[in-house]
Amino acid sequence: MKYKAIKGTRDILPEEMFKRRYIENIARELFERWGYLPILTPVFEQTELFVRSIGETTDIVQKEMYTFLDRKGRSLTLRPEGTAPVVRAYLENNLKDFRNPTKLYYFMPMFRYERPQKGRLREFHQIGLEVLGARGPDIDAEVISILATYFEMLRISTYEVKVNTIGCRKCRASYTKKLRRYLKDSFEKLCVDCQFRYEANPMRAFDCKNRTCHSILNKAPQITDYVCDECQRHFEGVKHFLNISGTRFTVDKRLVRGFDYYEKTTFEVVSPLLGAQSAIGAGGRYDPLIADCGGEETPGIGFAIGVERLLLQLEEENVSLNSIPPVDVYVCYLGEDLLDKALEIVFNLRERGLSVDIDYAHRSLKGQFKVADRLKAKYVVVVAPEEEKMESVKVRDMNSGEEQIVKKEELAKTLMEIIHGG
Ligand SMILES: [Zn+2]
Ligand SMILES: [Zn+2]
Repeated sequence: MKYKAIKGTRDILPEEMFKRRYIENIARELFERWGYLPILTPVFEQTELFVRSIGETTDIVQKEMYTFLDRKGRSLTLRPEGTAPVVRAYLENNLKDFRNPTKLYYFMPMFRYERPQKGRLREFHQIGLEVLGARGPDIDAEVISILATYFEMLRISTYEVKVNTIGCRKCRASYTKKLRRYLKDSFEKLCVDCQFRYEANPMRAFDCKNRTCHSILNKAPQITDYVCDECQRHFEGVKHFLNISGTRFTVDKRLVRGFDYYEKTTFEVVSPLLGAQSAIGAGGRYDPLIADCGGEETPGIGFAIGVERLLLQLEEENVSLNSIPPVDVYVCYLGEDLLDKALEIVFNLRERGLSVDIDYAHRSLKGQFKVADRLKAKYVVVVAPEEEKMESVKVRDMNSGEEQIVKKEELAKTLMEIIHGG
């Protein structure tokens, strides 16, 4: 075969589409019940938006963005994450005048040039949620709690909600100095990336997967112990409101997010079933981001869930998901002469709201029955010369094998009754 899907991308076939629809439907139902509305932003944006918001020195901006020049030489980037585009849309469309705070959710594909591995692709999908314009810890608790509720609704049993505070820009400055002082002694042992992070933002070293770095960082002073009074109060508030919401959580002081725009609350949902990189959903508060994007100072918080990782998790837990639904009725006909009559029945039954199909490959009657089996048809209607003479058709219950002759004028009513119970 000549053409193949690009490395790190893949086709999502019908069977999986139904599974995805299932997890999307639950998200939609839950989020809208809690007051969140859907949004969709363009697949590409000005490169500058991501560089400014995610941070010039982050791994994403340094090595993972799909960036290209358009025909007029403008630098564009396929979105690697959803928060910056949603913030851009919020500012550009004055959404604060529409609803304040603005509560939004999205299902969007993202693009990152990473090494492809199980559950990680270069084109992947996220279910995300953002709240713009609310500053208090009560909304943080709502956002964390809706994430946990979503996992409950999906019947995932082995997950854990972790929360932390990473302070604000004020308290982080003095902490960063402390962390640098600690790392200085082990500087030579750090990986190249972390040596770079040492200058740029040493807190990012907490995200490093390198074992040596990991053990060094394990004993490092933790931001949570050094946050300012305001950040501490905020964190206490988050825990207080999480308890009110009945959400189970643990505090993980090593939970630090890699993007520049996060501050105060960070959180993630992890599962032991997915191994080392076990976060299925993660998020945090990003109060500085909106001003950084050129808006007036507006607080924000949100999370994103990796759809591919979520599907892996559901598979690991043997949660049964929707699959391709069976057709209600498959219409067969004996001889090309009866195609017209058969089609009349097909269109008529479809109009009544049944799912109906017919063989367009012009197979023999036996071949048509085989297709009906493959489609798991509940009923087969056979249009044959003998019954046609009496303006009737044969209806076969594919489950029990029972057959009955039904007058054509009563066919729709009869099928509706047995399929939908009237
Ligand atoms: Zn602070
Ligand atoms: Zn490292």
